[in-house]
Amino acid sequence: MALPKGKKTDDFAPVGRFQWPVGRYRIDSLFEFDPLKQPPIAEKSGSVLVGDETTELRLYSPLEDCPGLFTDFAEVHSAEDVKRFAARYGLLGKGVRNYVKSTVRGPKPYVSGERVSEWLGEAAEMARILDLKQRIDEGNLKDVIHWKADSVSYSIDFLGHHHFELIAHATLRYATFFHLWKHGELKGPAEMLLAKTINTHLRESIAPQLTFDDSRQFKEYTWPLNLLGAMWFQMCRAFTGEQRVRRCPECDGWMTYKRSTKTMHEKCAARVRQRRYWELHDAKKKTRKQ
Ligand SMILES: [Zn+2]
Repeated sequence: MALPKGKKTDDFAPVGRFQWPVGRYRIDSLFEFDPLKQPPIAEKSGSVLVGDETTELRLYSPLEDCPGLFTDFAEVHSAEDVKRFAARYGLLGKGVRNYVKSTVRGPKPYVSGERVSEWLGEAAEMARILDLKQRIDEGNLKDVIHWKADSVSYSIDFLGHHHFELIAHATLRYATFFHLWKHGELKGPAEMLLAKTINTHLRESIAPQLTFDDSRQFKEYTWPLNLLGAMWFQMCRAFTGEQRVRRCPECDGWMTYKRSTKTMHEKCAARVRQRRYWELHDAKKKTRKQ
């Protein structure tokens, strides 16, 4: 479904799916300028993703059409990845917009865009939480969860950044939890940190809404405020819902799965079958030669 040019999606979402627009995007240079200064001074400060306002937007439903989108987002590591991801799934939609002195000739001297550095930060955060989940699943927590006499904390060097967080303290922070755990226990504190982090993101970008169903009865419904919120909602559901997440044994990328029989990406399973076929083929050829 295409939207008329320039029309934004409605703020009030009636019953139905959460939908998100996708247009065309380019990476531009960000010139920050202070509108209070006269004349405004624009300084170049990094890259920014800018939408092409002349393109028609198309709508899709991230939650239903791409239930594993958060795992794709976690693999966004460069400006090129940002551009590729946006071309398929649109902007993240966080409220803060940066005004860019456009390098493309258009009707307006400044256009809004989303900072590439902010995208990379959000993607790294998603990847870090997936890493924590994997560590919990594999019981591999001793390098990241640290106990002291009166506190337990989490620290990790991840994608070039050091991250530290106090999880609980005997008197100052989540004391009940602190005393509930056996001293030295790793899983409990890690799971609590994971839930707390996901909740923080959910609070920022997703909200329960009151709406109507087809027979005009009131209906409660969870509405992501933007694409980033939808992806954190997917992550939340990976712990409670039907859909689970784990690493693919063939390519080591993240994959979501429903059936317990699915053990790797479809494309990776096809690659493995192909490889086995050729291995068999080569083995036969060898025996024939002998
Ligand atoms: Zn794979």
